[in-house]
Amino acid sequence: MFAYGLSVRYGRSIAVSLQRFQELSHSGRAMSSAAKVLPQYQQFLDEAKLIRQKAYINGKWNDACDGATFEVRNPATGDRITSVADCSAKDVHQAINAAQKAFKTWRDTTAKERSVILRRWADLMTKHQKELAMILTAENGKPLAEAEAEVASGASFFEWYSEEARHITGDIINAPFKDRQFFVIKEPVGVAAMITPWNFPSSMLARKVSAALAAGCTCVMKPASETPLSALALVQLGEEAGVPPGVLNIVTGTNAAEIGKILCESPLIAKISFTGSTNVGKLLIQQSASTVKRMSMELGGHAPFIVFNSADIKAAAEAALFSKFRASGQTCVCANRILVQDKIYDAFADQLAELIDKKLRVGNGFESGTTQGPLISKKAIDKVAKHVEDALQRGGKLLSGGQKHPAGEQFFAPTLIRDVPTDALICNEETFGPVAPLVRFAEEDEAVAIANSVRVGLAGYFYSQDVAQIWRVAKRLEVGMVGANTAMISSVEAPFGGVKESGMGREGSRYGLDDYLNIKYICLGGL
Ligand code: NAP
Repeated sequence: MFAYGLSVRYGRSIAVSLQRFQELSHSGRAMSSAAKVLPQYQQFLDEAKLIRQKAYINGKWNDACDGATFEVRNPATGDRITSVADCSAKDVHQAINAAQKAFKTWRDTTAKERSVILRRWADLMTKHQKELAMILTAENGKPLAEAEAEVASGASFFEWYSEEARHITGDIINAPFKDRQFFVIKEPVGVAAMITPWNFPSSMLARKVSAALAAGCTCVMKPASETPLSALALVQLGEEAGVPPGVLNIVTGTNAAEIGKILCESPLIAKISFTGSTNVGKLLIQQSASTVKRMSMELGGHAPFIVFNSADIKAAAEAALFSKFRASGQTCVCANRILVQDKIYDAFADQLAELIDKKLRVGNGFESGTTQGPLISKKAIDKVAKHVEDALQRGGKLLSGGQKHPAGEQFFAPTLIRDVPTDALICNEETFGPVAPLVRFAEEDEAVAIANSVRVGLAGYFYSQDVAQIWRVAKRLEVGMVGANTAMISSVEAPFGGVKESGMGREGSRYGLDDYLNIKYICLGGL
């Protein structure tokens, strides 16, 4: 999900992420590490001004109406970081009303005014990159360098949409009648509700809110309950950047089903932008039917990573390592099925096993050198273990890992399994964990058929040096994003999104604004 190749301004960014991923790696087996927050970081967390515990509604930081709170814990250690407002229906309605009221004035601000605020927000994120990254690592567990890269990615969305805000234009269309002239203008859709996941708690929210505000929409946001702190910190910076009261509202809470239903069914909400699992996405679509909302759905993936006989095996293995194990396999664009052609199958398997052995280090995200943090929950560990067990039972052969890692309850060893059959669970469901299954294939058609055999289609990757094959396969993959001879596809300039049950709409890029704009046609008569 990271944007690679960001501007020089966001220099310490995910542009260097693959390199950092490799630099962080060190020789020797994946190691255990004491799963403790290091003292200097603990002190920071205790004193951090960007750690907020309250909901933000109509420009005010509020406790939940009924005073309820919930705990946020570090997944590496299980330690409590803090407690935040556990909002319920009344808070959500207040947030919606505030956003609706603010829309009446925010929609009429000039693009330049919105652009200046978004640009300030980008600069504030850059200024506070380290603090934001530490908060992110504490609540999500990902290595600090990855967290810094995520924050840089989030800042890049504010920078990008501060520029795009000023390029919203319309059309003048020649009418087929002498007495009429046709115009097309674009208008903000209204109040946008945003529900975001824990795996990119900073950049997912940044990607949505920057586009929404640029378009002239106001927002009600609901971050994942595992990781509300990154979202609250972002909102604080938005407030500092000068976003007026009511334009940004955030409700934190554990009752996602209740909050989600209210947002979907409210006639005051014009749009739902959701990033998360396909099942929840489907539910939100159903719940929004009665009010016919605009929907943006960034849902689950199950990316194929195909290595053809002509591929540069070393480059393909390095890219597979990165694509599979970044964020411990917890990204929606992670390679989930690695399909390798007959002739190079053994060589590729050996190379990937060696890279896992040499480059990956499991541990606390705060420890320098860690490339593999914890999984988000015990449930996630159970799912990964189930996929491994199933693949082995069906004839897969273990080359690395295969079990929980001694670093802590929520750590799983980076795992490589070869000779996995296509009917294995892991070939048919998103794993969201550090397990790479290798599947053997003989012909291009077979690989494309396996790749397209699932109901989702977010990202797909392949390595080949046959030019005709590159174009053919890129066109035939049923996905929203293709990486041909690269696994680094994400960038603020490029449209992010999927097809089939991976969702609808696009985020980032110039297309990302369209999801927050209505097209209005004006026919001027009597000329
Ligand atoms: P999830 O369960 O769908 O949760 C995502 C968000 O939805 C959280 O804020 C969650 O709140 C909320 N939620 C849960 N149940 C809800 C309901 N009934 N109504 C309204 N909101 C509800 O997803 P996850 O398993 O945590 O996240 C991983 C999934 O996200 C994976 O499938 C991954 O592929 C997908 N993802 C997709 C993209 C993309 O861009 N396509 C990017 C990242 C992740 P609580 O935390 O409070 O439960």
